[in-house]
Amino acid sequence: MLGRTHMAIGALGAVLVLPVVLHDSTAHDMVLSVGDGHLNQARQLIEGVVVGALGGIVPDLDQKDGLMTRKVERIGQIAMLGALVILLVMMHLWRSPIALGIALFMFLGFVHHAEWVRKTSLILLACGSLYLGMRFPDYTEIGICLAIWFGVTAFSKHRTFTHSLLGFAIAGFTLVQLGKYQHLVWLSDVAILGYGLHIIADAVAGGIPLFWPLGKRQGIRMVLTGGKADHLIGVVSTFLILMDVVK
Ligand SMILES: [Zn+2]
Repeated sequence: MLGRTHMAIGALGAVLVLPVVLHDSTAHDMVLSVGDGHLNQARQLIEGVVVGALGGIVPDLDQKDGLMTRKVERIGQIAMLGALVILLVMMHLWRSPIALGIALFMFLGFVHHAEWVRKTSLILLACGSLYLGMRFPDYTEIGICLAIWFGVTAFSKHRTFTHSLLGFAIAGFTLVQLGKYQHLVWLSDVAILGYGLHIIADAVAGGIPLFWPLGKRQGIRMVLTGGKADHLIGVVSTFLILMDVVK
C-alpha cells in the first residue's frame, strides 16, 4: 500500500482507540488535571493522530521510497556533509579547488536518493541508539532494541524483517519501554497500533512473511499498491478521521 494510505489507516486507528487508551492511562489523569480540559483533549487528539500516522509508516523504513525513509535519509546526508567538512579542514585541503570539487562530487552522490543512503542513515541511527543506551543506564534496553531494529532493517529487503512478528515484537517492546519511562503509555499504544495496522494492511496487499526469517508469506492480494482500492482506503480513512474530529 501507499505510504499515505498507511498514514491514514494509522491515524484512523489512533482516533478510534484514543478514548480507550486515554482512559486506561495514568498519564491521562496527569495531563487533564492541568489547565483547560478541552485544550488538552484537542492536543491529545493531534498528538494521537500524528503518532498513529508515524507508527503506520515506520515498517516501510525497509525500502528507499518509503515516506519516512526520505526523512531519515537526511541524517545520513548531514553526517556525510559534516564528515567531509571535518576531513577538508583536518587535511588543510579546504582551499584546494580539486579537493573541494571531489568533496562536492561525493556530497552530491550522497544527496542522490539511493539505497545505500538509506542503509547508511539507518546504521547511523543504530549506532546513535546504542551510544545513548550505553550512556544512560535507564535506557540501555531501549537503546539495544533500537540498535537491533535499525541495524536489521538497514540490511533487510522490503517487506521482510519489519513486517514480521519478530520486527513488530522488538519495535513494540521498545515503544512500551519508552512510553513507560516518558509517562506516555497511551502514545506508545497508539504507535504500536499504527505499526500493527500497517502489517495487517500489507497482509491484504500481497502478503507479509509473518514468521520471518522463514520466507513463506501469509496474506492475500485484495489491494494493489497504488491501485483504486488503495486510494479509496486512504480517502475513506481520512474522511472518517475528519468526521470524528469535527463531531
Ligand atoms: Zn509495508
